[in-house]
Amino acid sequence: MLFSPLQFLGDLLYPDLCLACDTNKKMPADIWCASCAYKVSIADYYQYPNNKVMERFYGKIELHRAMTLFNFAKGGYLQNLVHKLKYDNRPEIGIALGKLCGGLLATQADYDIDVVVPVPMHPEKEFKRGYNQATLFGKGIAEMLNCRLSTRDFIKTKATVTQTAKSRAERLENVKDVFYIANEAALSGKHILLVDDVITTGATLEACVDMLNKIPNIRISIACIALAGG
Ligand SMILES: [Zn+2]
Repeated sequence: MLFSPLQFLGDLLYPDLCLACDTNKKMPADIWCASCAYKVSIADYYQYPNNKVMERFYGKIELHRAMTLFNFAKGGYLQNLVHKLKYDNRPEIGIALGKLCGGLLATQADYDIDVVVPVPMHPEKEFKRGYNQATLFGKGIAEMLNCRLSTRDFIKTKATVTQTAKSRAERLENVKDVFYIANEAALSGKHILLVDDVITTGATLEACVDMLNKIPNIRISIACIALAGG
């Protein structure tokens, strides 16, 4: 886990600073300031069946729909926000972005979701971090879609080593056979929304969808916070 003493000190001294720009005061009960809220650029992927997120998975896995809330720009304030969610113990960021995403999906007939399923994290890693950020994002979405959040039906049974310095083939091999369907009956016949934080290679999502697609009469869509290189 990355720990930044300066960040920690900053949070203690300035608890009301915007979590995106670290400069302005954030709006009450929100994660960012008025300026960042105004600047935020939502990707319109949720409105279109054929989009850049779907393209990432063409010919690899079978999906109903796929979207991300943002395009991920390196060094931007979104990266700052996602970094805080992953490493700085800021669970409220996941919930807030989930609600934002769920509010958009609720306007789309194509996202007639029955169950939100976060990409599982190994229990040891989740314990160390204090939460699974995908679960928080999923929780916000499920609340807005008024549907069930499932954290026990699909689980991770093996810890995987970090993906960053591997080739595509190695990454796929790395995530193969690490997920497990613990309760098929709970997911059978349902439209599943698989959720995660940032889509980089997509290898983890591919492995999850490969596995989940073995369940009878299942439909799978994907919603993530951001698309890297989008
Ligand atoms: Zn701000």
